[in-house]
Amino acid sequence: MILSKLKEAIICLGAGRVTLPYPFAPHPPAEGFRGKVEVDSEKCIGCGGCANVCTPRCIVVTDPSQDTRVLEFFLERCTYCARCAEVCPEEAITVTEQFETATNDTQDMHIKAEVYMGSCQRCGRCFETSTALDKLMVTGFQGVPESGE
Ligand code: SF4
Ligand code: SF4
Repeated sequence: MILSKLKEAIICLGAGRVTLPYPFAPHPPAEGFRGKVEVDSEKCIGCGGCANVCTPRCIVVTDPSQDTRVLEFFLERCTYCARCAEVCPEEAITVTEQFETATNDTQDMHIKAEVYMGSCQRCGRCFETSTALDKLMVTGFQGVPESGE
């Protein structure tokens, strides 16, 4: 018994320090780590794709007016799956390396992005912002629609 404990002590002492100094020293995450997401509202076209794939439903899309779409991220429910970033066609969502998200105020985990949506002069429905429209190869003016259309 004493011998086995002695052996154990020798092994432990020989191993040296096996714990990390974090939080007293910074601990950079490993490559590919998925931390808190960030949203660039300048790039977002308001397609809602991120909200569709978010399993815990922490992305809420609302249209408070005809020309505005609001994306709200309630990240206190986020599972860090990064599906939102994967599906975003405009690469507006970035997965950062931020992992120190413990807070006593849920507002710290709330992101709100307002996206301007142009509205169609004919039907009044929203369509994508100029960010996406700029990429279209518009070849010519299509003319004014006939009255009654
Ligand atoms: S990382 Fe996953 S859970 Fe978090 S907001 Fe994106 S889709 Fe939702
Ligand atoms: S963040 Fe990306 S996926 Fe989400 S609404 Fe904007 S453009 Fe679409």
